[in-house]
Amino acid sequence: MITKGNFLLMEPSEFKVWLDKQNITRKIDKLQVHHTASPNYSTRQMVNGIAKQDVWKCLEGMRSYHLSQGWSGTGQNITVLEDGRIAISLDRDLNKTPAGIKGANTGALCIEIIGNFDQGGDTMSTAQKHSVIHLYACLALKLNIPIDTSHIVYHAWYTSSGAWLGDYERGESSKTCPGTNFFGDGNTRAGAERGFIPAIKTELKRIKEGDVDPMTSEEKKQMEELKATVESQAKWIAAQKAKENMKCPKWAVPAYEFYNPYIADNKGSYDFWRQLVINYRKEVGIKVQPQ
Ligand SMILES: [Zn+2]
Repeated sequence: MITKGNFLLMEPSEFKVWLDKQNITRKIDKLQVHHTASPNYSTRQMVNGIAKQDVWKCLEGMRSYHLSQGWSGTGQNITVLEDGRIAISLDRDLNKTPAGIKGANTGALCIEIIGNFDQGGDTMSTAQKHSVIHLYACLALKLNIPIDTSHIVYHAWYTSSGAWLGDYERGESSKTCPGTNFFGDGNTRAGAERGFIPAIKTELKRIKEGDVDPMTSEEKKQMEELKATVESQAKWIAAQKAKENMKCPKWAVPAYEFYNPYIADNKGSYDFWRQLVINYRKEVGIKVQPQ
């Protein structure tokens, strides 16, 4: 987690822990879904799936543009980068109403997904997809928002004045945002109900089951090995403990009987019995052949 300039940047795996600590004081019952259109995978200068452009330059660039439009800060509360990393706008924290959909921002949280997901645009990376789904599931859980198309809403389902259309209507919708090919299902309500919404529901179920960070098969194998090691060590320790308080073993009986008047009980450690035998042999003159 890094704070720099006007943003807090984190890995998707850090988001839930961070979110759980946030004190949300305003009523939020809608999660907006946007793509940035620009910046996108091209302006991020993607080479083999890795952006060459500096991440802070990208984030601050958006903020500067929003300020130039006369806005009070970065428009969105949250940005999801092309590699899945999540940026929180420090000048538009979760308790501030966003500038996401003109006329429809009260009670909403604005999430911008970096990329242009219109037909012929960018293909969302797997990492970004996972992060986006995880993020909406975490927010729905934290804010107690139902996972449906009345509460998780695409920008395209509003007119340019912020009136609710309830679906993408060409010519009436203010924008195609989050893209006519968003999640491979497009920007319609039916499209959202086909892929995006069920994916968030599945993710929420996974989170609730406590499987926040599932182990890979390699990690599971390592865990099994570790368990086996711990178990065998526990056995060894138990055996050592047993040795510390053992009854006189057979091979020490003559020594024990010899020293019996001087010993309070017939229990002792392995080392004690061994030493007793040596003392006894010295005392009575028994020499043993070195092995
Ligand atoms: Zn939008």
